[in-house]
Amino acid sequence: MTENRTPSNGRFCDGEHLIAAFSGDPAGPTLIVVGSLHGNESAGAVALSEMAENVATIQDSLKGRVYFLAGNTRALSRGVRFVDADLNRHWTPGNMSGSSANLSEDIELAEIVQQLDGILITAMDEVFVLDLHSTSADGLHFATVGDTLRNRAFAQKFPVTILLGIEEQLEGTMLEYLNNAGAVTLGFEGGQHESDRTVENHKAMVWLAMFNAGIIGASAIPDLDKYREHLATGEYDSHIFEIRIRHAISNNDSFRMQPGFKNFDPIHRGDLLGNDKSGPVTATESGVIMMPLYQTLGEDGFFIGREISPFWLWLSGLLRRLGIQKMIHILPGVSRVPGDPSTLNVNTAVARLFPLQVFHLLGFRRRRWDGNKLTVSRRKHDTTGPFKWKGEANG
Ligand SMILES: [Zn+2]
Repeated sequence: MTENRTPSNGRFCDGEHLIAAFSGDPAGPTLIVVGSLHGNESAGAVALSEMAENVATIQDSLKGRVYFLAGNTRALSRGVRFVDADLNRHWTPGNMSGSSANLSEDIELAEIVQQLDGILITAMDEVFVLDLHSTSADGLHFATVGDTLRNRAFAQKFPVTILLGIEEQLEGTMLEYLNNAGAVTLGFEGGQHESDRTVENHKAMVWLAMFNAGIIGASAIPDLDKYREHLATGEYDSHIFEIRIRHAISNNDSFRMQPGFKNFDPIHRGDLLGNDKSGPVTATESGVIMMPLYQTLGEDGFFIGREISPFWLWLSGLLRRLGIQKMIHILPGVSRVPGDPSTLNVNTAVARLFPLQVFHLLGFRRRRWDGNKLTVSRRKHDTTGPFKWKGEANG
């Protein structure tokens, strides 16, 4: 079934999430692309609408399934980030239970989940999800991933900078939910909200995603190299950065970012990054600035990231394949949470030698700090996924 929209005229309808669906071989891999989960980031849905007719012409040669979805439709049609609540912080167990339906985003969430469930339940091979976003600040486009080995491997096929650990800083993102459901997930920040280049970046990323997911062969996309060249920026291509600090803000903080910062601008400890009602906000460590906030709505002032060395990446892959993460609870100061073998409590007063980075290395995600107690949980589906019929059991 194929449904095409008139491109870029802004006429996205409330509650209509399916932009287009294409099925060549229904037993092949699935790619789901979501655009405009934030309604002020129209570039995602616009790119998918404009691409739909091009993909339709090669539908017969697809070796899998492709779905283009619009995210927060009610916010998109109003041109706002969200109506009542951030839809990309809304995928929490409480909201997923469907018990509340008062907010516009409760309805959006229920609609998208219904759409996604239908796709996941019929998947017969690997499922890939690409989530298209844009930023208020100018700067390089980049990819974001939750740190599983499967996500890393997919992300490194794209000639873009990769950022690990954003999802650890945020609760209730769509990709975290889909990652836990077993999909290989990739987020993409395509550039500045209103820039035409952002739409072109999104399109290049989606074409490459279809290729990298094994759904189209190189011969079906004559412009494959052009898309690679379009996305490549040189400096940090396929380099992996880690988010180390999130500056969380609320409306009463009156936070204002210092003007002029772009993504990946180097900063030093002590640099003035912004001001809030208590005075200057400075960098607590050196690194690169990520996603500085230059819009009024948002819960993240900025992030500080740092590049991860190839050695560290290699070591973590090796240790996880050996299964070290399944044994770490025998160490002093580390204990399993009863009834949940993938979650650990770490008494950092006892386990001084095991800082958060060691758990990151082994594929754990920080849940919370509580005094001396650090709680971490192992990301599901790190090395294997549930969708391949001939696949192994869940990792
Ligand atoms: Zn966004």
